Amino acid sequence: MIHATIKSKIGEDISILFRPDNHPWHYLCECGMASDLTVKEIQNLNAIFISHLHIDHFINFDNILRLQLGIGRKVVVCGPKGIASQIQSKIKAYTWNLIESNSVTYEIREIISEKEVHIFDLFPPNWDLIPRGIQNASSLFSNEAFEVQYTLLDHGTPSIAYLFKEFDKVNIDLSGSPFEGGKWVRNLKSAFEDKANIPIDVNGEVHPSIKLFHLLKTIKGFRMGVIMDHATSLENHAKISTLFQNADQVFIESYYKNSDAEFAKLNHHSYAQKSGEIMAKLNVKQAIPVHFSRRYETTEITQLLNEFNKALGFR
Ligand SMILES: [Zn+2]
Ligand SMILES: [Zn+2]
Repeated sequence: MIHATIKSKIGEDISILFRPDNHPWHYLCECGMASDLTVKEIQNLNAIFISHLHIDHFINFDNILRLQLGIGRKVVVCGPKGIASQIQSKIKAYTWNLIESNSVTYEIREIISEKEVHIFDLFPPNWDLIPRGIQNASSLFSNEAFEVQYTLLDHGTPSIAYLFKEFDKVNIDLSGSPFEGGKWVRNLKSAFEDKANIPIDVNGEVHPSIKLFHLLKTIKGFRMGVIMDHATSLENHAKISTLFQNADQVFIESYYKNSDAEFAKLNHHSYAQKSGEIMAKLNVKQAIPVHFSRRYETTEITQLLNEFNKALGFR
């Protein structure tokens, strides 16, 4: 399970924090203003994922940088083409004569296309961008708990939608069986993953692995998506459909209410009905509309949420 929390209040820009079960680090999507984000959470970030660099998605990076000074380790930042020099420009706006070189390091993973990611290191006191090579999309980010896939949507500028995919797990259920647990469980699990029929020593009694496979159950990894600013074009919806079909949870921008669809078109944004419809079509288990125009008052946001839910199928 991945636990995600919206850290921006209504009326603020967008920022979503998440953490997988039994995992030491936090992760952040978007750096909009987020007054619910704590110092401890910011200092515990292992990676930050940014869709695009409009001010409402990037302004809080300065605050995050301020609070990460002194953590003494690397933080990964993934984002669109240009993000490396844009982060560097933000940092270079300050004076750094008193900083230690191991205070904090950023590894920027700049998403150039659906296939290509450019890597840069950035560290004090000079904050020069050091190119570290080119990677495939498939290795954008992964660790022992999850991996990340992405697609580039059009928002007048590329806007990256991210899918965070926990790995599937194999669990054993010994209730109702004559066996007790032990080291053999691990051997059985690896035989299961390799689809291998090998002898398994179950606490002194040998059984062929295929006779024990019925004790195992594959638990599908949780799939959580973040789809930020995007036009409601057929091309964008086709890309969203490819990546987020049957996802467990998706946060999707619904910047405008239906009556402002003209503004949505003008500003390459989505609106309540279109965001709700695409989530319904993809059979997303929990679709959460986020990132509403700041000019809306509470009643208008309620109206927007009703429009989203109606399109989702709740009437
Ligand atoms: Zn935007
Ligand atoms: Zn935005």
